[in-house]
Amino acid sequence: MINILSPAVYNRIAAGEVVDRPYSVVKELVENAVDAGATEIAVEIEGGGKQKIKVADNGCGIAKDELAKAYHPHATSKLLDAEDLFTVSTLGFRGEAIASIASVSRMSIVSDAGEGAYALACEGGKLGEVQPSAGAKGTEVTVCDLFFNTPARLKFLKSDSQEEGDVTNMMARFILSRPEISFTYTVNGKLKFRSLGEGLPAAIAVVYGASTLENCLEIAADKHGIRLHGFIGNRNFSKPNRTYQSLFVNGRYVVNQTVASAVMNAYAAYLMKRQYPFYVLFLDVPQEIVDVNVHPNKADVRFQDNQIIYGSVYSVISSVLDGNSRAVEYLVGLKEELQAEQTTPVLPQDQREMTYEEAKKELQFDISPNKNNPSEPKFYTPDPVHYAVHAPVSSAETEKSEDFFAENQKFLREQDFKAKQERVDVKDLVFKGELFHTYLFYEAGDEAYIVDQHAAHERLIYDKLQEKLAARTVISQPMLVPYLLELNAAEYAFLSKNFSLLREMGFDVEDFGSGCIKVSAVPSDLMGIDLGAFFGEVLSSMESLRAIRLSDILKDKLASAACKAAVKGGELLTDEEAKQLLERMDGDMGLKCPHGRPVAVKVKRSEMEKLFKRIV
Ligand code: ADP
Ligand code: MG
Repeated sequence: MINILSPAVYNRIAAGEVVDRPYSVVKELVENAVDAGATEIAVEIEGGGKQKIKVADNGCGIAKDELAKAYHPHATSKLLDAEDLFTVSTLGFRGEAIASIASVSRMSIVSDAGEGAYALACEGGKLGEVQPSAGAKGTEVTVCDLFFNTPARLKFLKSDSQEEGDVTNMMARFILSRPEISFTYTVNGKLKFRSLGEGLPAAIAVVYGASTLENCLEIAADKHGIRLHGFIGNRNFSKPNRTYQSLFVNGRYVVNQTVASAVMNAYAAYLMKRQYPFYVLFLDVPQEIVDVNVHPNKADVRFQDNQIIYGSVYSVISSVLDGNSRAVEYLVGLKEELQAEQTTPVLPQDQREMTYEEAKKELQFDISPNKNNPSEPKFYTPDPVHYAVHAPVSSAETEKSEDFFAENQKFLREQDFKAKQERVDVKDLVFKGELFHTYLFYEAGDEAYIVDQHAAHERLIYDKLQEKLAARTVISQPMLVPYLLELNAAEYAFLSKNFSLLREMGFDVEDFGSGCIKVSAVPSDLMGIDLGAFFGEVLSSMESLRAIRLSDILKDKLASAACKAAVKGGELLTDEEAKQLLERMDGDMGLKCPHGRPVAVKVKRSEMEKLFKRIV
């Protein structure tokens, strides 16, 4: 049943120009097909979508006497009254897309809802007559000559190939977001994408190529009533920009800063500047805590509580990346292994399932130095191109052929989707010497590894400290001369609220009056570091990372400060020490130091031979 929304309801819906370019037309039409329960959706565009857009689906169809209503502005079958606005589960709900598109194009809808096919056309907003037609069950919408009657808007469009690129990007997102739906996407008669509705890994292979999957870790976490699943690039798989990031909140593609910065910060230790993580993530949250009605294109959502979303996403992603024991519950593969062994992992108290309310309490700090806007943490700001529906997928990525699909399918069958680590068996590596007191050479068959001894040390110390801190086995060491920290009011309030935590981590701290804190003991690994600089770093993170627990910030800062204190470069290692170093790395050649630099570099024999022109 299609309802005409009353002005009272309609006016509460974020209004805005929904159709401003071909990609937004395609978006609205595909969303309608998805909402109609289609399992197969075929999209064709010509001339960048300016000439022609056709979207055909096998969904529920529109009944003959509802066809005219579908063209009516504010006509929707998806909302009855204002109450429904808070629990929107369909993609569309404003009932304005078809009417807006029809007013600026030559449009026709052919639909069969089970009583035979009927067609109704509309030209520049002038409705024709309903006529019997030929057509399969479902709906086929054709939009020709977009903006033919609004030359000003036509002039505003980008070139055909740019508009096409935007549509292609969006189709990629649809394929990822609805991996159970089979999509066909054709541009100027040439097939660009075909997904078979065979699940997310297959969809990722269609969009990014099967090899991308090899470099991905699977995420499957369900906590606090918040579910996060999908695939993320491993620690060494980075992309040069953010266009390889897709987030779907309750099934809707959005660009959301809270989630984007949580992921970015989780990768911080592994990626260097201008490297960006790859991810395809689905975040499912209770409908009551997310507002989808904030953006005209529905391209962002607003969470009731950013901190809990930030905290949840950050903790899941960083656990999986760090590969530590906390990640066990998140990793599907490991979970299965554990089940196979028929052991139930006993989770420490703080890993027990929390309710949403409990989690919210736990993650909330009542100190907010940024008092003007306490619920909006300061995050890095994605640059404007990040509105990724506009960002180009390189043409090499999108040039796909039938063969390629078949190849992907074959490849996928052979793959298990476990993360592939750059791991070598330590037994196969022979230590061959060192260079400049810094680089260690190891040989393994036809490959050589060059290890940066300094970076490797740093990484190992960092890991060990993280472990110690997690296990709370840090030893506190008194200082001969206590250190006095002079703080401003906000800093003082922040630290003094967290005395017990600081003590747990090995600091002996006490209030010294008038904004001063006296530090008289430090974790033994931190002996001799610049305490002023250390607390300065912790406090500078206080604002930007406010949503994470202070314990996490502290652990991170402690570990990296300790590496700085402990590692001395340019030390000559004995053969035995060089071997041990490698054993402690456990053959993981994909490691990066805590600042994101690689620990090891692989050189193939053939590459050496090329250098010396033995082969070309
Ligand atoms: P909305 O999607 O916000 O409801 P639209 O203007 O996009 O508004 O569509 C109006 C109505 O037309 C929808 O509510 C739906 O009932 C019907 N409709 C549109 N496209 C389809 C389709 N592909 N299959 C079935 N019904 C459709
Ligand atoms: Mg719609």
